[in-house]
Amino acid sequence: MKVQLIDVMASDLNVVRSAKVSTEGAASLVTESNDKLINYLMRERHASPFEHNVFTFYIEAPIFVAREFMRHRMASYNEESGRYKVLDTRFYYPDNAGRPLKQIGKTGDYKFVDGGELREETLALMDEAYGIAENNYKTMIDMGVAKEVARMVLPVGTYSSWYVTINARSLMNFLSLRTAPNAQWEIRRIAELMEPHFEIHMPATYAAWVEYGRQSV
Ligand SMILES: Cc1cc2nc3c(=O)[nH]c(=O)nc-3n(C[C@H](O)[C@H](O)[C@H](O)COP(=O)(O)OP(=O)(O)OC[C@H]3O[C@@H](n4cnc5c(N)ncnc54)[C@H](O)[C@@H]3O)c2cc1C
Repeated sequence: MKVQLIDVMASDLNVVRSAKVSTEGAASLVTESNDKLINYLMRERHASPFEHNVFTFYIEAPIFVAREFMRHRMASYNEESGRYKVLDTRFYYPDNAGRPLKQIGKTGDYKFVDGGELREETLALMDEAYGIAENNYKTMIDMGVAKEVARMVLPVGTYSSWYVTINARSLMNFLSLRTAPNAQWEIRRIAELMEPHFEIHMPATYAAWVEYGRQSV
């Protein structure tokens, strides 16, 4: 899986500027950031000044991660199309030793435990299913079946790619939910790759967000 920062318009100064326009008007004259003000905004959940900061990421991950990701509506998306291009038949395998495979407990209170003894057979079963899907997809493409029809056999483990543009307020919401222990392992990895970009570009905002519990604001 891959996360790449494509573009960014974000800084602590942007937060301070947009907050100060309400009290000072001449916002463009503000040239210094103000960690105390940022802390105050975070603590009091005066969240709109964080919205004037925007990150664009390019992401490669399986379709099931894309489905979870795009539930975050406060963002803009463009995803590769299975109607307009022949999809790369690249499939995701839970082959990382740190990825738990067993689920125990009941709805709303699941725990995921190692299950390493199941990995080899799980991967083999996936490989078999992916192989059939890939073969039938390519056969249909070669037969001249429309791409939008042939893709119907591809599973949610197929890789996709997308652009997402998200403001810092929505990014905090995303990171809060998707780095939490109850988020699916794969989207947590994506969120963990995104988080350092937030910290680098908005260090005081990031520190305040951590200080106040990594919550949505
Ligand atoms: C662990 C976990 C399990 C999940 N399981 C499921 C599941 O089983 N099924 C499922 O369908 N989804 C599931 N979700 C998705 C979840 O319900 C949210 O859709 C997703 O996390 C996006 O969060 P959000 O709405 O806060 O983000 P955004 O859509 O980016 O919205 C940001 C904020 O804007 C406001 N907002 C946005 N839209 C509305 C609206 N229509 N009305 C009022 N306020 C709005 C809210 O304050 C919201 O927090 C799961 C999420 C997590 C983290």
